[in-house]
Amino acid sequence: MSSDCIFCKIAAGKIGGPPVYQDEAITAFKDINPQAPVHILLIPNKHISSMNEATAEDEALLGQLMRTAAQIARNEGLGSGYRLVANTGPDGGQSVFHIHLHLLGGRRMAWPPG
Ligand code: AMP
Repeated sequence: MSSDCIFCKIAAGKIGGPPVYQDEAITAFKDINPQAPVHILLIPNKHISSMNEATAEDEALLGQLMRTAAQIARNEGLGSGYRLVANTGPDGGQSVFHIHLHLLGGRRMAWPPG
């Protein structure tokens, strides 16, 4: 845990409401500024700043993050599709430096993204 990381605090239950999903490795919670009818963030409970800092040791964890997102999408009734996004670095639009996957759904997504 990084003491100044807002997502570490959410994973530890120190701030935020009840998680959408949580297990020993992953926490999922609603985005505070939703960009779609369903907008959930999934994070590893372990602090990793961005995809650039992930190591081979994190591969299973990142796979688990993706599969958990698919399970949550099913639970949310997103059978007709959804989008998973991992903004990485300043040019990628990353504003919180703890790896997170955006799960967006409930409306038709446009491409290319902004
Ligand atoms: P990114 O810009 O990809 O780093 O995404 C960070 C996301 O975190 C944004 O969509 C924010 O709305 C969201 N966010 C920031 N602080 C909180 C918070 N305390 N609880 C829930 N979502 C948050």
